[in-house]
Amino acid sequence: MLKKLVLMLVLAGICGFRMPAWGSDLQQIADALDVSTTKTFQFTGNGSMFSLGQSTSPAASWPRFFVKSMTRIYDFTTGAMRDEVVRMAAESPAVGPEQQTITMVNGEHAWNMAGKDTAPRLFEANERAHQIVISPHGVLRAAFANNAAVAKKTIEGRPMTLISFTDRGKHKVVAYANEQNALEKVESWYGHPVVGDMKVVTHYGPYRDFAGVKFPTKIIQYQDDKPTLDLTVTAVRANPPVDIQIPAHVRSDPVPVKSEKVADGLWYITGISAYSVLVEMKDYLIVVEAPHGERRSMAVMAEVKKLVPNKPIKYLVNTHHHFDHAAGVRTYAAEGATIVTHEVNRPYFERAALNSWSFDPDRLAKSKKKPVFQTMGDNMVLTDGARSVELYQVVGNTHHDGIVMAYLRKEKVLIEADVFTPLAAGAEPPKVANPQSVNLEANVRRLGLEVDRIVPIHGRIVSYSDLLAVIGKKPAPAKK
Ligand SMILES: [Zn+2]
Repeated sequence: MLKKLVLMLVLAGICGFRMPAWGSDLQQIADALDVSTTKTFQFTGNGSMFSLGQSTSPAASWPRFFVKSMTRIYDFTTGAMRDEVVRMAAESPAVGPEQQTITMVNGEHAWNMAGKDTAPRLFEANERAHQIVISPHGVLRAAFANNAAVAKKTIEGRPMTLISFTDRGKHKVVAYANEQNALEKVESWYGHPVVGDMKVVTHYGPYRDFAGVKFPTKIIQYQDDKPTLDLTVTAVRANPPVDIQIPAHVRSDPVPVKSEKVADGLWYITGISAYSVLVEMKDYLIVVEAPHGERRSMAVMAEVKKLVPNKPIKYLVNTHHHFDHAAGVRTYAAEGATIVTHEVNRPYFERAALNSWSFDPDRLAKSKKKPVFQTMGDNMVLTDGARSVELYQVVGNTHHDGIVMAYLRKEKVLIEADVFTPLAAGAEPPKVANPQSVNLEANVRRLGLEVDRIVPIHGRIVSYSDLLAVIGKKPAPAKK
């Protein structure tokens, strides 16, 4: 496209033709940002970010974090991006401890860094790749590459240039540039594994000259109509050195699956940072939790079929709607499983089922099947007469308004997500008990459950005394 543009400019020069309006307008907007010479870009800012898909109920806002600093680096030549954020929870607790997060994407691969460890986050790759496309430089680069339509329109009394395109069939963009050739708003869509076509609105500006480099001083973003970012940009750098390499294991096995037997007919399916639990019933199977998207869920289902051939997955229990936990729910629905969840979560999944799924259609969207739900309030029992899986709401928990745990009475096993994540073996218990874990123990007492082992969706299998130890109810168990 750039070649074509150069050719047109040459032709325009030779023949005295007027440049087609779209080309010159787009070029002027791109030139204002030095797009043609910007291969990599970095900005640093502070303000707030809001954790997409982690709201305390499907209707609530994305929870806010104070951002002490965020540095985002784009490599437009490889489609890679790295975010390094120092942030603090800003809701419960009102000001949490400082956390550092490093998140990356390169092409189709996404992963997080925690210390030296890298954790695959394949299900977030579309969202991260989208951030590259809708960045000020990214929009212009993609506009040229995708032969964008350019139109003039007066919006609220101001003449604007609208730039519209779909990038690689995956990212739909409508960008608005003002009379100063500055991009000030981008409306866009990408395929999300829980939501379907996710609507994003990003506001840029006012622009400032950062020592010769023009860039917006504010970035405000909404996803699914709720704020996700409100950042004041304090520093920028054009063409910094960038080297974002996909870790070998993320490239070769982005959805690793391992399994271990917990008890007869009960398996823990691990391998990635969020797990599933398989329960074998007389004639069918129950899977608790479908985290990390369709590819992960397909891999888990393949493992399920290996562990127990010839029994269908009848139920998928979803503990709560948080996106890391729910990104594979639809894969099980496509497989014919009934989705069991708390009634708080159902309308959100049903709304998603009615959404369009144009940009990354999953198996359920392609099948045109409707997901089938069975929802619960305080409790529900899935039973075949021989074995029962008791489901209970973790009532009054600040993590989520409709969060469900599963209990196997005979095995004295409790399966729970997020309300208690066991510490690494040998780690010191926190000085202040996590109120969510305190609440879990209160629920276990309220229900009179006798628990020997906790099988958590994050972490590792521990004895019940580990929960008691971290909430200060009992001294830590003797080290084995
Ligand atoms: Zn959660």
